[in-house]
Amino acid sequence: MNRRLATLIFPLTLLFWTLCAVPPALAAKWTVRSQPARLVNGGPALFQVKPTARLQSLTGTWLGHDVSFSFDATTRTWYALAGVSLETALGTYPLELSGETTAGKIPGQKISFTRKLLVARGKYPKISVKLSVEGKFTEPTPEQQKQIQEAQQVKKDYLNRVTPDREWSGKFTTPADAAISDVFGSQRVFNGKTSSPHLGLDFRVPSGTPVAAMNDGTVLLARPLYFEGNCVVIDHGQGLLTLYLHLSEFKVKEGDQVKRGEVIGLSGGTGRATGPHLHVAVRWQGSYLDPARLMQLQLPRVGRQ
Ligand SMILES: [Zn+2]
Repeated sequence: MNRRLATLIFPLTLLFWTLCAVPPALAAKWTVRSQPARLVNGGPALFQVKPTARLQSLTGTWLGHDVSFSFDATTRTWYALAGVSLETALGTYPLELSGETTAGKIPGQKISFTRKLLVARGKYPKISVKLSVEGKFTEPTPEQQKQIQEAQQVKKDYLNRVTPDREWSGKFTTPADAAISDVFGSQRVFNGKTSSPHLGLDFRVPSGTPVAAMNDGTVLLARPLYFEGNCVVIDHGQGLLTLYLHLSEFKVKEGDQVKRGEVIGLSGGTGRATGPHLHVAVRWQGSYLDPARLMQLQLPRVGRQ
């Protein structure tokens, strides 16, 4: 064999064996993206998935939760909103995806894909703020303890609900056009006793300020609770809820469908509040997430399913 022929054959042989070693079906990878690209504990996550085949359904598991995806035909992408609890340790966690194919030679074929995602540590302020609230919130009487227990039961019944179908569409927007007075994750001290971290976002608003729904959804709760005061909870689907606390007035009732920006109540200082303000919280499948981080996500506008 002359040298010129050898230099031509060798790379071709190598290419042939490379192709044989990895069958095309396995070599093709799904495109899996998260937004933000750097996930943190206490933060939301938008998963964007483009599988290698047309699917009729896609589900996933993430940090021990079931994740349901919805399909956007214009971008041929599956979307799901999820989150990472504040307690989640720094590390790499798998997003396990499984779907069922639609068309093709073998319809209804199950395919799966796993993508590992890094969860970094979110930065939350450690400063303690001294607050003074009425004694009934720090040292409740037996009668008040009963009311607290009743409110806890309502929260247990409602706040862990997961409606798989997506109702949100597009960005989550601010519930009030006002300055932020306390951020998510800060440590607080009530009457000298350290309380759990602040699990919401506070807006400095006078009583009677209109409060807007952060996205489309269904009103899950609209009733007074012991600590929360007059409280509205909106279910946006895919396990994501937004909560609006200490309201002076309700403008919606349980079961109502609301659109982003729609007024759901007026702000106030009911429940455990040091004064009139709006406390907004975000929950995903039982974990509180940072509302500010949720509002930063660029979410697709997709029609109702
Ligand atoms: Zn608050």
